Amino acid sequence: MAARNIPHGSTNTSINIQWFRLMDLRLHDNQSLVKTIEFAKKDLTGILPIFCFDPRIFGNEARSEFGSIKCGPRRAKFILEGVLDLRKQLESRGSGFIVAYGKPEVEFVKILKMIDPNRDIPCRIFCQEEVCSEELLVDNAVRNAITRHYNKSNLHPVWDIDEIDKCSANYMPTLSDLGYNQQQIQHANTVHERGVMSFIGGETAALARCKEFIWDKDLIKVYFDTRNGLIGPDYSTKFSPWLAHEMRVANKSTYWVVFELLVRDYFKFFAKKHGNKIFFSGGTTTGAEKKWGSDKRHITAWKEGRTGFPFVDANMRELAETGFMSNRGRQNVCSFLAHDLNQDWRYGADYFGSILLDHDVHSNWGNWCAGAGMTGGRINKFNIVKQSKDYDQYGDYVRRWLPELKDVPVDFLHQPWTMSQFHQIESNCRLGVDYPDPIVPPYNPKQGGGKGNGDNRKRGVREQKKNNNNNNNRNRGRGQREDMKSLKQGQIIMKD
Ligand SMILES: Cc1cc2nc3c(=O)[nH]c(=O)nc-3n(C[C@H](O)[C@H](O)[C@H](O)COP(=O)(O)OP(=O)(O)OC[C@H]3O[C@@H](n4cnc5c(N)ncnc54)[C@H](O)[C@@H]3O)c2cc1C
Repeated sequence: MAARNIPHGSTNTSINIQWFRLMDLRLHDNQSLVKTIEFAKKDLTGILPIFCFDPRIFGNEARSEFGSIKCGPRRAKFILEGVLDLRKQLESRGSGFIVAYGKPEVEFVKILKMIDPNRDIPCRIFCQEEVCSEELLVDNAVRNAITRHYNKSNLHPVWDIDEIDKCSANYMPTLSDLGYNQQQIQHANTVHERGVMSFIGGETAALARCKEFIWDKDLIKVYFDTRNGLIGPDYSTKFSPWLAHEMRVANKSTYWVVFELLVRDYFKFFAKKHGNKIFFSGGTTTGAEKKWGSDKRHITAWKEGRTGFPFVDANMRELAETGFMSNRGRQNVCSFLAHDLNQDWRYGADYFGSILLDHDVHSNWGNWCAGAGMTGGRINKFNIVKQSKDYDQYGDYVRRWLPELKDVPVDFLHQPWTMSQFHQIESNCRLGVDYPDPIVPPYNPKQGGGKGNGDNRKRGVREQKKNNNNNNNRNRGRGQREDMKSLKQGQIIMKD
């Protein structure tokens, strides 16, 4: 079948491929697309937009060095929706969009051979610049494959690539084609009623969420006070799944949204600067490397949300069920794995990489590396019980994800190990039977530790006093006030 939708100019003096990759599935604000259009205009030729579902990323065969699947089925579904939406967007503007299943370096050559069997037309490929090693390896492979394929320049008539199996302007794989099994597909298609919201991939849904958050609900102006929340769609922007794959978008709150977006960019520069060090157990620190554990029992309990620490477990179960977790949750479970369990933080980063809907290699590995204290400077160990009391004061979040604790009174909810036998029976929750005993001894304030310099006891009292002045805001904890301090020293000036 002829690829009639694929745009081509009347005088094809070059082939300009717009290679959409995982992180730029959008038309708005897409610099590489702008470049492709510039060149195509100059050459009076067309643009060939392409996306490849790379088997090194998708499906059960694609594994990380820690053994996790690289892209969980839920994220794969989100990306599929994004690619489908991009095709709709391109077609509505009169363009076709080739989608292929295969390695880009192989698929591009196949496509180019079909278009130009005599290898006469020079080809340019435009794509977003990536900075991490796996992406750079693919870049090199594509560059080598194309250079080998092309040498001289000429005119060329018709493009007809639909004969290539699993590659055409109409082709769109299913989750099953990408290598996921029925159980995984069913899980990916389930919208969890307790999840923060239902995420649909694609630039259209991304722009709609932007409009809803910023304009319709006007939530950006209260973001500063709500951003440490745990339940529902509106405590934070929820832009991250779209930002990770598709799109980008004065008061104190608007400042903080911009600030957080800058943090995202910061981690990309951080990855560019430090290269593969962000994947090393010692991170970007130099000198003696910390000895990390790799206790399968602890790591599995952490992943499954069965550590006996309710705040950690609730967050990990939310992640497993929905592919999302709040920033507050991520900081806590990261600290818990690295500092309380003393397990190699990379098991955590790897698991997040597999399962997060918004996985972004720079933000994920950068945050993990920092959370584990492997970027130098102060190590932030979180006092999990204090954090859960601060940020889930009434236990709504813990109860939402841990039904076995639903009858446990709030006084015990964040540290169920303090329940007597009597309380356990009263609350229908026997420790070690209905809910696990803590897998490591709980933090004891009398022995120091906790986030910061270990002086948590005094600080705890101070904060409680401060918190008492703030009873109307469930999400406001110590972190919030520290952020406020830095806001006063903030360097960023907002302009229209
Ligand atoms: C251990 C750990 C792993 C993380 N892994 C990822 C990841 O793979 N992908 C990802 O996008 N974010 C990651 N984050 C950052 C952050 O938790 C999420 O971006 C945020 O929770 C997403 O929700 P939101 O869009 O509602 O964020 P909001 O609070 O509304 O923030 C707005 C945007 O700012 C950016 N942002 C906010 N905080 C951070 C941060 N600490 N680092 C980088 N960007 C930030 C995100 O793009 C986010 O969408 C991680 C954080 C931690 C502690």
